[in-house]
Amino acid sequence: MKSINKFTLLFIINSFLCFSQSNIPINEWAGKTILLIGAHPDDDHQSHGTLAMLKANENKIFMVILTTGNVGTKDPNISKTDLSKIRRQEQIDAIKEIGLLEEHYVNLGYDDGRLEFADKEEAIGKLVYYIRKFKPDVLMSFDPGFNYQVWHKSDHRAAAYLTADAVRAAEWPLMYEGDIIQHKLDAHLVPEFLFYGGNVSDKNTTVNIDKYVNQRVEAGTKYLSQWSSGWFNYLGSDIDNYPKGEKENVYKKIRDRIKVVNGIYVEQFRHYKGIPDGMGRRPRD
Ligand SMILES: [Zn+2]
Repeated sequence: MKSINKFTLLFIINSFLCFSQSNIPINEWAGKTILLIGAHPDDDHQSHGTLAMLKANENKIFMVILTTGNVGTKDPNISKTDLSKIRRQEQIDAIKEIGLLEEHYVNLGYDDGRLEFADKEEAIGKLVYYIRKFKPDVLMSFDPGFNYQVWHKSDHRAAAYLTADAVRAAEWPLMYEGDIIQHKLDAHLVPEFLFYGGNVSDKNTTVNIDKYVNQRVEAGTKYLSQWSSGWFNYLGSDIDNYPKGEKENVYKKIRDRIKVVNGIYVEQFRHYKGIPDGMGRRPRD
């Protein structure tokens, strides 16, 4: 295809996506397939109210997490292998609290803290495979930035850009064509995005999670190896086995972290609809 034709086609597709889709509020979404990609087992937590609502509204939700979370502890007695097992179980227990299915959860097994050193082509290839397999209508990820790169700590930064690059690759049939030839998948164009973790000033969408806030809090209390005194001295997955007062503190800390606007619990995102090439920039000449 000549490049002029390719760009004309992209313009038409983008215009179609931008202008033909009705702007249905997120709380009215139903029947959509949603894929959240994160770096660590807990990166999804900041969206748990929205995910609980989307699940309750009959949307299908998948999650791909890049690393096992196997270094995030100050407990000197936990090995990386133990921690990766603990983090997996915490993650499964948390997503079950918001109604998600264990069989819709994938962990790609990269080492925590070193995602930026992973083989980029391989990591993008794995993400492309799952994007083509799950065929999301909406993709949720760390915000790669709008008109400039958003600074994130290392794994979040890597996850934001690996995801952006994978989404772009997934739409082209001759990119990672083994998926298509060997696994009988189709190229997939993701038409809509909800970016989390970006700058507050870039967020353009607020979701009322009042009805789902208790589910979000319950889910959060599953991450005892990171959000309790278990960070320093892990005592297992039962919060009642932790020191006196721990349970109240953990529940309070997790609830206090949730954003409140006009007395309503909310989660905020940068929402973008259009071709992947436009996710991070304003239109240019
Ligand atoms: Zn993280």
